[in-house]
Amino acid sequence: MTLNGKTAVVTGSNSGIGLGIAWEFARAGADVVLNSFTDRDEDHAIAAEIAKETGVSARYIQADMSKGDECRALIEKSGACDILVNNAGIQNVDPIESFPSEKWDAIIAINMTSAFHTTAVALPMMRTAGWGRVINIASAHGLTASPYKSAYVAAKHGVVGMTKVVALETAREPITANTICPGYVLTPLVEAQIPDTAKEYNLTEEEAVEQILLARQPSKEFATVEQLGGLAVFLCSESATQITGTALSMDGGWTAL
Ligand code: NAD
Repeated sequence: MTLNGKTAVVTGSNSGIGLGIAWEFARAGADVVLNSFTDRDEDHAIAAEIAKETGVSARYIQADMSKGDECRALIEKSGACDILVNNAGIQNVDPIESFPSEKWDAIIAINMTSAFHTTAVALPMMRTAGWGRVINIASAHGLTASPYKSAYVAAKHGVVGMTKVVALETAREPITANTICPGYVLTPLVEAQIPDTAKEYNLTEEEAVEQILLARQPSKEFATVEQLGGLAVFLCSESATQITGTALSMDGGWTAL
């Protein structure tokens, strides 16, 4: 499948899932815009590497997704936005009575409100282009809860809800909006936790993955960033034209429990 001529903007994409998704879009022929809040040489180098390896145009645009005006500026500066992937996200774990207010505000802003701002600017561009895809990265925590993750669970449920509204507002147009809900994904951050978790619980690394990290994931396997990218690319295919307003889980059975 080719996405030649399309531009995919992926928020929070200088690492992890966002970067994996950007790579899959570039491999499928789409031009890509990478983003995070930093503006380091290595951020721009990632875009240069994607462009070199795949032959598409790849740019890195700095914008802080905790700030509404910067979310909007990201889409404006991108110039085109046929595919919008709202992926930027952070986490904090604390019981609700001691959950820091500033962490609550930051999680709601970055994980949820940013998608409102980017979508508001991207939809008119999609309408002008006559085609568009909004793909929001929520989580199994957009459908279920865990203790101590109040802001994250609230934000991710909010994203699932807002995506349904976008799908209804665009239902008669060649635009779709869907949420992807990953379970645990093997990102560099998660990978780095394996040796420490094994040591802490006196387990082998294999046991630590199965018993601790993937305790709630029945498949006992991580999803990969390439698999998530593959699903995002599929949502841009002709076969996915009637998939809109849904939350698609990639969680090894977590939400079937
Ligand atoms: P990550 O930390 O590798 O990636 C998060 C990205 O968001 C990074 O590129 C980071 O720079 C960016 N970011 C953070 N704050 C930002 C800000 N203020 N402005 C712009 N960018 C910002 O983590 P990840 O695991 O790849 O997570 C990506 C998304 O996937 C998040 O929304 C996360 O909630 C979701 N998710 C992850 C998992 C998992 O197991 N890793 C599971 C379910 C959902």
